Amino acid sequence: MAMAQDWVASNYSPLPVVLAHAEGAWVTDVEGRRYLDALAGYSALNFGHLHPALVAAARTQLERLTLTSRAFHSDRLGPFCRDLATLAGKDLVLPMNTGAEAVETAIKVSRRWGYEVKGVPDGRARIVAMHGNFHGRTTTIISFSDDPVAREHYGPYTPGFDLVPFGDLEALEAAVTDETVAVLIEPIQGEGGVVVPPDGWLRGVRDLTRRRGVLLVADEIQSGLGRTGTTFACDLEGVVPDVYVLGKALGGGIVPLSAVVADRDVLGVFTPGSHGSTFGGNPLAAAVGQAVVALLATGEFQERARRLGLLLGSGLRALVGHGLVAVRCRGLWAGIDIDPSLMTGREACHRLLERGVLAKDTHGSTVRLAPPLVIREAEVELLLDAVAGVLDDARRDRDQGHHGG
Ligand code: PLP
Repeated sequence: MAMAQDWVASNYSPLPVVLAHAEGAWVTDVEGRRYLDALAGYSALNFGHLHPALVAAARTQLERLTLTSRAFHSDRLGPFCRDLATLAGKDLVLPMNTGAEAVETAIKVSRRWGYEVKGVPDGRARIVAMHGNFHGRTTTIISFSDDPVAREHYGPYTPGFDLVPFGDLEALEAAVTDETVAVLIEPIQGEGGVVVPPDGWLRGVRDLTRRRGVLLVADEIQSGLGRTGTTFACDLEGVVPDVYVLGKALGGGIVPLSAVVADRDVLGVFTPGSHGSTFGGNPLAAAVGQAVVALLATGEFQERARRLGLLLGSGLRALVGHGLVAVRCRGLWAGIDIDPSLMTGREACHRLLERGVLAKDTHGSTVRLAPPLVIREAEVELLLDAVAGVLDDARRDRDQGHHGG
């Protein structure tokens, strides 16, 4: 018999669980079984499911005004942009919907800035990005991905991008030319497996881009908004990029909301009609976004991520040599590399599911853990117990397999 899921195109391969309800750090499936959510919508649910302040903001707005288009002002867009710009310490906000749209916007603003401010000859602008990047799924963005799964058979590809190894300042220095307009980074590579660059790299990139007259564009779509224990992952090194690219948690897990945040000398290159979006900055999204910014402005979530992140990190590091080969953790964001002789990351996620934890592999034997920042200490312990249990089970299975010949 056909199941409802059979009508869904197969560009994903979900774990075998059908979710129906959620609250805070917990989700419930159609059979009433509860799971701890250790993926949090790829960090789109930093404030947990159905955060009361965010639901209240959405509900109030839902009954007042949901969409104006940008042909008219709304009484919600200005206050949202003011508060987000203030949080980021910048002049202007350009709202979009998805993360990929915000990255596209950052590419467009960088190129325009290159032609109109820096003086690069028209059509020649180049942007340096990093090996192992993930910035979204549009045709232009996958053109500078080096992941064959994301890229294959989508050509012809958009030109104008150069790739250098993540964390390698010398290679970056060599790749920047007079035609380079921007360096596009994830301060920590999320989809790559929570890959943390060497200490000082980000500061080095900031110095280099300033010295060479190139914009530093930080894609903080997954790393930002409290996840790493600071408002932005760039804050971990005291770095302020020229352009922040935000998304995911900005919409509170309720609406798609992304934004490019920068000073007037950069974002000011957009003129009426030169860029836009029907839904970008709609009043419903702006109301939720403003409530998200209010949560972040208290600093409470950053502090939680810092404090509980220490617990998560030390608990995971204790498992290195007991089924894990490496752990990378910043705040409540961890990439764990499982001993590939034990199981794949995908298999680990199946086993975690059986133990009541939802997580997602990135690739190979790496699993990303990114629970909502509302998670409590006892729930972090529960997550650690589940990971330890899964590793123990896999070790036992492997050893029994060996004994059995
Ligand atoms: N940039 C980064 C760093 C991401 O992690 C993602 C999504 O995972 C994106 C961009 C794309 O965001 P979206 O899926 O909302 O287009």
